[in-house]
Amino acid sequence: MIKLSDALKNIADLIADTGADGSEPDWIACHVLGCGRASLRLRREISDNEYGEMLGIAKERATGRPLCQIIGYTEFLGLKIEVNGDVLCPRPETELLAEQAILYLKNKTCARALDLCTGSGCIAIALAKFTNAQITASDVSEKALKTARGNAANCGAEINFVLSDAFKKIEGEFDLIISNPPYIPTADIEDLEREVRDFEPRIALDGGEDGLDFYRIIADKAGDLIKDGGLLLLECGEGQAKDVVDMLRGFSCSIIKDLQGIDRIVKAVKTGV
Ligand code: GLN
Repeated sequence: MIKLSDALKNIADLIADTGADGSEPDWIACHVLGCGRASLRLRREISDNEYGEMLGIAKERATGRPLCQIIGYTEFLGLKIEVNGDVLCPRPETELLAEQAILYLKNKTCARALDLCTGSGCIAIALAKFTNAQITASDVSEKALKTARGNAANCGAEINFVLSDAFKKIEGEFDLIISNPPYIPTADIEDLEREVRDFEPRIALDGGEDGLDFYRIIADKAGDLIKDGGLLLLECGEGQAKDVVDMLRGFSCSIIKDLQGIDRIVKAVKTGV
């Protein structure tokens, strides 16, 4: 037996040289002990086996591999989303994006929504679970769509998945289009922390030379696919939101900050003029 507090401290030391945030030792323990974070403090001691399992995860984490890839899942708005090297690990700022869509769709009946670049499917699944809208989700990566389909099935979410390079295979009109597209400028990828650079799929990160390629495609096409009065919600990288707003014609735009105070979300209502 070992005291949980000592185990957590040793785990924190083992992963100190990574980009791990301070909560990761707790998450490792929660995963191994099968409990929620709130009840973790009720455990005083853990078995040698449990400690061994925690150390195994921490050693792999020390190589830079993101925790969500090691344990195979993360949480997104309380939903368990499976993650692997084929998809981006859902981020907290993307939860803010999805929440905006949920607020918009909540009181609508028969609404249709599209999640472009769905990756793990996290956004589409949250919309399917927490609203009555009909959800379409697309991605250019067959492997990502396989992961997203699995996640939708595990969560009991009904989603129409489409393998599509941006809008190429997308048909119909939508009340809402939402996307967290790849937005890192190609040359900046090498400077990202190794968790992201070495382990997350490039196709989910690379937004072209200035990082704005996908926003250009979206700005060009979204007006044709969104109903008048409908909403376009886009997550952006730091410093990109104003450029994205400038690209959008026929939309009335506002910018929403994330919890770090960074301009993160462009919310654009289609005015048609
Ligand atoms: N929509 C997914 C997410 O927000 C994937 C995004 C991406 O691959 N760029 O996590």
